[in-house]
Amino acid sequence: MATVSVQHHQMFIDGKDVDSSDVFEIRSPATEQIVCTMAKGTVEHADLAVDAARRAFDRGEWARMPKDERSQVMKRIADRLGADMEQFIEAEIGPNGATVRQATGFHVGLAAPHFLHFAEQAATFEFEQDVPTAAYPTISMNRIRREPLGVCAAIVPWNFPLVLGIWKIGPALAAGNSVVVKVDEKTPLSLLRLAQVAHEEGVPAGVLNVVTGDGAEVGARLASHPGVDKVAFTGSTAVGREIMRLASGTVKKCSLELGGKAPVILLDDADLDIAVDGALFGCMLYSGQICESGTRLLVPEDQHDEVVERLVERASTIKLGDPNDYDTDMGPVISGRQKERILGYFEQARADGATFALGGGVPEGPEFAEGHWIEPTIITGVTNEMQIAREEIFGPALVVLTYKTVEEALEIANDSDYGLTAGIWSGDYERALEIAAQMRAGTVWINNWHQVDPALPFGGYKQSGVGRELGPDALNEYTEVKHVHVDLTQDKDGHIFDILLSTPAK
Ligand code: NAD
Repeated sequence: MATVSVQHHQMFIDGKDVDSSDVFEIRSPATEQIVCTMAKGTVEHADLAVDAARRAFDRGEWARMPKDERSQVMKRIADRLGADMEQFIEAEIGPNGATVRQATGFHVGLAAPHFLHFAEQAATFEFEQDVPTAAYPTISMNRIRREPLGVCAAIVPWNFPLVLGIWKIGPALAAGNSVVVKVDEKTPLSLLRLAQVAHEEGVPAGVLNVVTGDGAEVGARLASHPGVDKVAFTGSTAVGREIMRLASGTVKKCSLELGGKAPVILLDDADLDIAVDGALFGCMLYSGQICESGTRLLVPEDQHDEVVERLVERASTIKLGDPNDYDTDMGPVISGRQKERILGYFEQARADGATFALGGGVPEGPEFAEGHWIEPTIITGVTNEMQIAREEIFGPALVVLTYKTVEEALEIANDSDYGLTAGIWSGDYERALEIAAQMRAGTVWINNWHQVDPALPFGGYKQSGVGRELGPDALNEYTEVKHVHVDLTQDKDGHIFDILLSTPAK
């Protein structure tokens, strides 16, 4: 019987492909078929990558490259992200099950413009700033420099590996750092391709490395490695806590983008035609596997039945199926483990007395016999104390809660350990803006969702994270600040050494 050969991929360290004696299989979450095999990295590979990154940083080809040149190299990479989009889509969605439509508009579609944004920042960022001469106690010139940190580790999850990787790699490279990326074991391909492309376009060997391996082994090594100056992590809050603990051993800088349980306040003046579709877009896109998804919908008590009826009617039309088919609205969830976890949450919700207005299980049909599938699900009769309202499900499940007054809606909205995003549907902008100011979240979307723009900050309040990615200050997170003081007195009598310390010379 003929055997079908599967492509094997290696890690990318110091400008070269690096294999490992251990291998893991990447499987499609839609079919469970093998997509490819991948070298499985170890702590030794993490160390090799950090050493390569450090040597590259010390050589200075990238770190001390004139900023306009660095920007040009990065612009060429952005161009390739656009030109090779089909390849990047295949690399991203084969392993993570996003639909081709989502990948075109979001998972991969955002990659080129977001990388370009950082390429432009590489040229325009104020790396040096002279502060006007201070006249007291002596005349001096003062300069504030922003210098690259050195070696940055980027640990990324499986849901948006390319874009979430770029949110770290982009500002790190723009500021002149070297980077070691630890991809998620399920989805290594798109960032691997990015590192190869970056090398082809002029990023020197060792400046951008990609390693694989188990998080608890390879990720943990990077978070605690004495040769790593900063760790930037996107993933679950539980692992984020562990990363913070590991980073503390060497007092590493640490930025964390963690989980969410975003509240969505539907106000009584909202246009339901927009709000119902918008709430489903906010929650169900990519099967709800987005940290910033709007998962707790708060509706006025007297509009509950109408809103739920409309939600069910619209969500029933969401078409599940082959992610490569342009007609498909929703693909699978990432893994069998994740599917079981979601079903476990549903079971608990039933036990807690919630009602399933739609879905709540696995879709029927031969096309769903393989792969990891969950129906679009609307859960009602939920209170904010229930587990289904407090924990991140990371599946296509919207919970509906009711409120009597806006004050009560705000209280419920803010009653969460998380604070990544929040939203409001309203016909009155002024009213919505006032409410937005009282929501404890890093982003508040009014009358839309999933609007991430590289020029605007993204990150969480409370246990949703530490620091911000994107926005005007993105490069600050990847630089050290240095104050250089130059005394201009040039005359001993003009100094105050004698007054403060020694006896005046006769
Ligand atoms: P995860 O935390 O399990 O894994 C994320 C990454 O961390 C992976 O690369 C994994 O290998 C690595 N890792 C796991 N254990 C580690 C350890 N002990 N030390 C170091 N690294 C380790 O998360 P996930 O299941 O891959 O992703 C889903 C979670 O990520 C959700 O909770 C979601 O909300 C969150 N997320 C947040 C954002 C954001 O921007 N805030 C974006 C996407 C996903």
